[in-house]
Amino acid sequence: MRIGSNNLAYPFEARPEPAHKIEVAIGVYWLRMPLPISLNHINLWLLDDDDGWTIVDTGMSTDETKSLWESLLENQLDSKPVKRVIGTHMHLDHIGLAGWLCRKCEVDLWMPRSEYLSCRVFSSEMKEDPSTETVEFYKSAGFQHEELAVFRDRFQARSHFMTAMPTSYRQIKDHEKITIGEHEWTVMVGSGHSPEHACLYCEDLNLLIAGDQILPRITPNVSVRPDQPQSNPLEEWLESCRRFKNRIDETVLILPSHGDPFYGAPLRIQEIIDDHEQALARLHENCNTPKRVVDVFPALFKGKVEDHNLVIGTCEALAHLNYLLERQQLQMFVEDNGVKRFQQN
Ligand SMILES: [Zn+2]
Repeated sequence: MRIGSNNLAYPFEARPEPAHKIEVAIGVYWLRMPLPISLNHINLWLLDDDDGWTIVDTGMSTDETKSLWESLLENQLDSKPVKRVIGTHMHLDHIGLAGWLCRKCEVDLWMPRSEYLSCRVFSSEMKEDPSTETVEFYKSAGFQHEELAVFRDRFQARSHFMTAMPTSYRQIKDHEKITIGEHEWTVMVGSGHSPEHACLYCEDLNLLIAGDQILPRITPNVSVRPDQPQSNPLEEWLESCRRFKNRIDETVLILPSHGDPFYGAPLRIQEIIDDHEQALARLHENCNTPKRVVDVFPALFKGKVEDHNLVIGTCEALAHLNYLLERQQLQMFVEDNGVKRFQQN
């Protein structure tokens, strides 16, 4: 057992080689797929389902990941068929190949309703130019002409990482129990990182397939999106974190989507909550004079927010600002040019 710098315990020395699996509990296998972004991998899970397999999450659509899947399906499944694909949430790294995989294996996609429907909407939007409302959203945050031009240019690029979603699906719900092979798994829904993120908890095996809800090293992104500029996802996120912390103790093996499996969920969740609370305090302090969304980055992020992370940084900064706004710790006014400014109450 390796103890990491943040006091989490990592029980596995090795990580799965491409197109190979590692058994992390009886009938639960860890797969790792490359990602063509700065976060360079995602973990997927293969569950022994008696006369077949259940797959949890799929990876992004790239030629490399498709060929790794083809090799896995051919060589790692002991000649048993895939019976279903479960999608934890709508993000491209998780669900990019869901359509391709479900069609190839002729199985259903199981997913929470808001995740499935949001994914259908976003995947069709990504094929068009950004809407006027979307452009206005970034303008109101303080994007200048050049930044908007870059945003417009790149808007459709994400659609390459996504195959067409299945046009029908099987809904999964919070608290639902799903029998997979010999074990019963309970769906635990979190919110804030995405609308209705599914985790899968198996009491018998004492483990949680956590998706992006609990990650050992990186803090999951919590963002306000252009389709709901006034939303307060950080409130939902912190509420979910507290709920998970009460339910999942330190003996539960956490299978995260990024990083290595670990023990110590309550410690890690508290660290994430504390990080947000400290960020909110710095942000409040920073808004002693009126600030645009793009002005508050230094109060929230260690690294520079520019270019490739400008959009995500803006959406995350707005999530923190909206949280303080709803708590009435900040007020917001809109300038004549449409730009929002936030200031301490
Ligand atoms: Zn995610």
